[in-house]
Amino acid sequence: MTTNVFDHQNFFTGELDQLREEGRYRVFAELERKAGHFPQARRYKDGATQDVTIWCANDYLGMGQHPKVIEATCEALRAYGAGAGGTRNISGNSHEHVLLEEELADLHGKEQALLFTSGYISNWAALSALGGGIPNCVILSDAGNHASMIEGIRHSRAERRIFKHNDMVDLEKHLKDIPPNRPKLIAFESVYSMDGDIGNINGICDLADKYGAMTYLDEVHAVGMYGPRGGGIAEREGLMDRITVIEATLGKAFGVVGGYIAASKALCDYVRSFSSGFIFTTALPPAIAAGARTAVRHLKDSEIERMRHRRAVSKVRASLKAIGIPMMDNESHIIPVMVGNAAKCKMISDVLMDQYGIYIQPINYPTVPKGTERLRITPSPFHTDEDIAKLTKALSDLWSHCALSRAVA
Ligand SMILES: *Cc1c(COP(=O)(O)O)cnc(C)c1O
Repeated sequence: MTTNVFDHQNFFTGELDQLREEGRYRVFAELERKAGHFPQARRYKDGATQDVTIWCANDYLGMGQHPKVIEATCEALRAYGAGAGGTRNISGNSHEHVLLEEELADLHGKEQALLFTSGYISNWAALSALGGGIPNCVILSDAGNHASMIEGIRHSRAERRIFKHNDMVDLEKHLKDIPPNRPKLIAFESVYSMDGDIGNINGICDLADKYGAMTYLDEVHAVGMYGPRGGGIAEREGLMDRITVIEATLGKAFGVVGGYIAASKALCDYVRSFSSGFIFTTALPPAIAAGARTAVRHLKDSEIERMRHRRAVSKVRASLKAIGIPMMDNESHIIPVMVGNAAKCKMISDVLMDQYGIYIQPINYPTVPKGTERLRITPSPFHTDEDIAKLTKALSDLWSHCALSRAVA
């Protein structure tokens, strides 16, 4: 036994203790989602199980359990087997991948789409390749951007300028400052996940035109949800053709897993050819691609899920508003219930789960700024009036119990 060497175990436990002290240690609920009964799930804890209702899923429309999606996935699984067999580059490119890319390109009105293993990887890989490959590129990044974009931009080593969240004046100030002939890319989101606010796509496109910048839009929380065919906020606002790159996920409203970009043929081919995060990783299983394509196709034609979803969101908002639960106002489907204290937020979440069978993960720093800790509620078309009544009663009890202030209705 050598002495004086770095005690790595001690390092790990020390860091974790620090997280616990700050109330930032992450605890995951152990759940079993029940296909056909979404949003109901079974929870495992300390050797016991409990039935719970999920109120914080990003499978916003319950497509992960849609019979057509399950059937297409099973059918493809039986037909093609479990895995892709390799990277797209070597032996892993399947007909299903190509079909899904065509479906996605069509969804966004773009020449081409390119699949990745997740939305995170698509942002990381595409922004790394674009920012790193385009000579002397400057990336203008919204201050509210998701970690996957931030990491991609960092990895690209391009010059990065962060503009104030959704602030056109600040963005223009930066753009003015950069020589006209320097390549520029503006990276931003449509629906911001934690506040549920919506990016000024039109304003950003106008500035991009004026200063000759490319636009890169993350529609992760909007695809399947907004626009007549589920193409996202840019589709709803008729702006898809003004966006250079649309990025999104197959894991949220489409209910499966995977990510993609949609853009011009040349841009997609460039990323396909130069991006390490695309080239050197095993492709999505063809069965997953088949399931995702079914979800995308279904939501292109079907309005009922979006309609029921909107109805559930406004019912929940109205019900919580009536008892003065403070919510952040926004125009999206995300309902941030503000607690403003990490310990209370975690405690409320624990009691909701243990005593009311309601699962809402607490959202604390660093996901959101300190003092804005919250419960992020995401209704689905499958939450019933009874579910909503139970949620309202539980939050009312807890607001009284924790002496939290209520908003004046
Ligand atoms: C979840 C998320 C991603 C990553 O997508 P995954 O498919 O889950 O990896 C990217 N951008 C935003 C804004 C997200 O919220």
